[in-house]
Amino acid sequence: MIQRPKGTEDIFPEEIYRWQYIEKKLRGRASLYGFTEMRFPVFEYTELFSRSVGESSDIVGKEMYTFNDKGGRSITLRPEGTAGAVRAALQGGLLSGNFPLPQKIWYNIAAYRYENVQKGRLREFHQFGAEVFGPASPYADAELISFASQIFKDFELKDINLEINSIGCPECRNKYAEALRKYFGEHDDLCETCKTRLKTNPMRILDCKSPVCKKIAENAPIILDYICENCKNHFDILKSTLDSLKVAYTVNPRIVRGLDYYTKTVFEFVAAGVGTQGTVLGGGRYDGLVEEIGGKPTPALGFAMGIERLLLAMTEQGIEIPKPDGIEYYIGDTGGEAEHKKAMEIAAGLRSIGKTAELDIFNRSVKAQMKYADKIGAKKAFIIGENECETGVIKLKNMKTGEETITNIEDLIKNG
Ligand code: ATP
Ligand code: MG
Repeated sequence: MIQRPKGTEDIFPEEIYRWQYIEKKLRGRASLYGFTEMRFPVFEYTELFSRSVGESSDIVGKEMYTFNDKGGRSITLRPEGTAGAVRAALQGGLLSGNFPLPQKIWYNIAAYRYENVQKGRLREFHQFGAEVFGPASPYADAELISFASQIFKDFELKDINLEINSIGCPECRNKYAEALRKYFGEHDDLCETCKTRLKTNPMRILDCKSPVCKKIAENAPIILDYICENCKNHFDILKSTLDSLKVAYTVNPRIVRGLDYYTKTVFEFVAAGVGTQGTVLGGGRYDGLVEEIGGKPTPALGFAMGIERLLLAMTEQGIEIPKPDGIEYYIGDTGGEAEHKKAMEIAAGLRSIGKTAELDIFNRSVKAQMKYADKIGAKKAFIIGENECETGVIKLKNMKTGEETITNIEDLIKNG
């Protein structure tokens, strides 16, 4: 038996309703906030990700699924959505002045990372993301964050905390990087990866998952002491706007996010009780990215939420997702050709008025058919025999109560 690759999951018919429930709510909420869906490829030229996500990030450094296609081009399965969304927005001219700004898009994608597989950490996973192109104002940050926080209200998640931080602009970050180099340079028990990060991007050390590095990072200088007046103002307005919107948050100066392209605001929604994979949603502002990918300088911001982690958090908090209704009508038959054709005709009639109907395509005994009707949760059932064919009258059984009513086939097909 061929197994599915490690870190991937199959989603079976009996659980798909959970995904559909989430996707439907997200779509509805996104549209209330004025976002429209965008779709873009599962794979892109590798350069897109190395340039945008950043060479010093974990994603580009060790997590990408990269291969050469038959034409010898280096291709990568998307590890996240923002880079592809920005590339598509630029290529489609959405940021060229021909379309109004802001452009607000959402996506629901599978993403691929070669990860250490654990609960809530997969190699193929799913993200719902939203991106806003154009506005530089901190009110845009507040609006986006309130959209994200509304999502968790929609799903009735309770123990979920919003943590925000500012990682400044490239200028403030240079000063901060210097301070971090000085601090971490004095600790030679950093992990090997962090020793490299010390040279390439010391801020990344704050995001390391090794307990030793985490411990050392506890006393590291914090960025908020280094950000410039402009970045500080931006952060202050964001905080006061969140206050007035009554969106609760804590400032966590340790949040730096895993991707290189963030500037100023970064944020995470962390669910209690899910352990180290508790970060369900992460996002921030990335004012330099559009230009980095070849567009005009365009401020932008966005977030991405892991659907598997959202589902985990909901399960952990005992939040039930309503199961869809079972089939409405099960139409059994006694086996003859005429009876079977009649059953099919009635099924077609019921479906044409929007009722779900199922029938026997196995030639099973009536008893076995009724057992099946029960198993699939049919609400009502009836049997077509010789008599029913002749008279056009059936005995409609309520599967829950066992109650039977005499009904006309013609009426049934007309009114359900
Ligand atoms: P982590 O720090 O947990 O590795 P990250 O910073 O790499 O997360 P992002 O790149 O910000 O994650 O992705 C946004 C969201 O996508 C995460 O908050 C998480 O919910 C989800 N996510 C990221 N990587 C995975 C994965 N390998 N499996 C499942 N979900 C993931
Ligand atoms: Mg990661």
